[in-house]
Amino acid sequence: MKEIVCKLLVIGAGPGGYICAIRAGQLGLDTVIVEKAKAGGTCLNVGCIPSKALIHAAQEFATVRHMTAPNALGITVEAPKLDLAQTVRWKDGIVGRLNSGVLGLLRKARVKIVHGEARFRDGKTVEVETETGTQLIRAETVVIATGSEPVELPALPFGGAILSSTGALSLQSVPQKLAVVGGGYIGLELGTAFAKLGAEVTVVEAMAQILPQYDAELVKPVAKRLADLGVTVLTGAKAKGYSGEALTIETASGAQKRIAADKVLVTVGRRPRTEGWGLEDLDLDRAGRFIRIDERCRTSMRGVYAIGDVTGEPMLAHRAMAQGEMVAEIVAGRKRAWDKRAIPAVCFTDPEIVTAGLSPDEARAQGYEIRVGLFPFNANGRAMTTQSEDGFVRAVARADTNLVLGLQAVGAGVSELSSAFSLALEMGARLEDIAGTIHAHPTRSEGLQEAALKALGHALHI
Ligand code: FAD
Ligand code: NAD
Repeated sequence: MKEIVCKLLVIGAGPGGYICAIRAGQLGLDTVIVEKAKAGGTCLNVGCIPSKALIHAAQEFATVRHMTAPNALGITVEAPKLDLAQTVRWKDGIVGRLNSGVLGLLRKARVKIVHGEARFRDGKTVEVETETGTQLIRAETVVIATGSEPVELPALPFGGAILSSTGALSLQSVPQKLAVVGGGYIGLELGTAFAKLGAEVTVVEAMAQILPQYDAELVKPVAKRLADLGVTVLTGAKAKGYSGEALTIETASGAQKRIAADKVLVTVGRRPRTEGWGLEDLDLDRAGRFIRIDERCRTSMRGVYAIGDVTGEPMLAHRAMAQGEMVAEIVAGRKRAWDKRAIPAVCFTDPEIVTAGLSPDEARAQGYEIRVGLFPFNANGRAMTTQSEDGFVRAVARADTNLVLGLQAVGAGVSELSSAFSLALEMGARLEDIAGTIHAHPTRSEGLQEAALKALGHALHI
């Protein structure tokens, strides 16, 4: 059996693992990364990147289709055609480019890459079945970055007509009738895309509201757009099974209903990859299903760290990356701890939602007396000239000091406000700092300045 001894072993080359390994390599640590599938993990291969590619293609198609009817811009076109197989090839091309990019960055940082599934022998030793035989890796420090996988419903096992997000991202043709079980991030991002591509979409959500992690005010424009796209949304409803090209559901009133569907996309959350590869035997402390970590991403076992989705919510790529970078620096001897004020979140629905920090309800629940300023995009010149006036920017601040506690927006393209929101929170901005910053005109970002001005009681454009 071949054997490698190293300073740092990273298990999993998703956003958490590959960033950790690159930074460790840059810092001169002798680092090995093990990956059983493709570099880039869920995010790059079957998550963030391919879903955003599909969402973009769907928006382009919807824009052109809209122009087949007389419209305000006076542009008319013939009915567009869609070759989804070609769209998927284009998406795969982007994924391929980024795959090579990640591998190149790892090599440049002199990280040794081992392809295969790691299995723990003990907390510091793993075995990997590679194409050329079993590889034993002994490390001083181990980082678990094995990510997450889709939750399967017992009544709707994946396969055939029942799709996980991974299956939905590789379809070769658009389903005629698509039922989406779970109206969270993935269900709504992909459900909206398929509706724009021409599918008749029904969303079945167990809770009383779609996107239950966001407040009703933020979700309202998304619900309106879904209705405009002809998407049926059933809340308080649960899926029971699939037969004869129909999904059986129990509605909020307890009645059974059948929804015709040639495909069913199940997006009811993701669970950590903690089983089947020897992790159970390490008996690490858990936080529910996830690995428990402290503010330095240390697990309950000395020298074993965990980062990313395997450690719980929020399961977001940028959180995994920030943890990976921090852990590499800690292993290299630097003094670091998780001191982030905010992890921004973006939902790439239509319109997009972006949040950082506390919502008004969360701030009140934490005992703050607050000021809230809301600026609607229908008073913003850029929004008018790009025909997307739905939505708003909202600022939440302490009433006594004007310290900004949270920033939220819903609207076309507002994902790009996420960096301004995070920066304001990380820098400890007060409403006056945002209000006193010159925001370029005409841009949607002026909504942020106006929301701060509104909270201060002197908005200029409303
Ligand atoms: P992962 O990316 O899951 O990577 C873990 C890696 O470990 C995998 O490559 C896996 O093969 C490997 N692995 C597991 N076990 C072993 C083992 N025993 N041996 C060797 N290798 C192993 N997040 C965002 O922030 N923005 C988005 O827009 C976004 N969109 C998404 C869309 C979809 C459809 C999905 C499914 C997810 C999306 N996410 C998004 C979430 C994001 O993908 C995850 O938060 C992120 O990938 C987590 O990174 P990670 O490094 O923790 O784990
Ligand atoms: P989610 O937690 O966002 O949504 C799951 C939804 O399914 C919830 O609204 C839940 O109430 C509902 N649900 C659960 N069981 C149900 C049932 N039996 N019947 C009907 N509805 C049910 O999970 P997801 O959409 O699968 O996404 C998983 C994770 O991936 C997210 O938590 C997020 O962290 C990440 N993600 C992020 C982005 C982004 O950042 N833009 C995009 C996609 C995914």
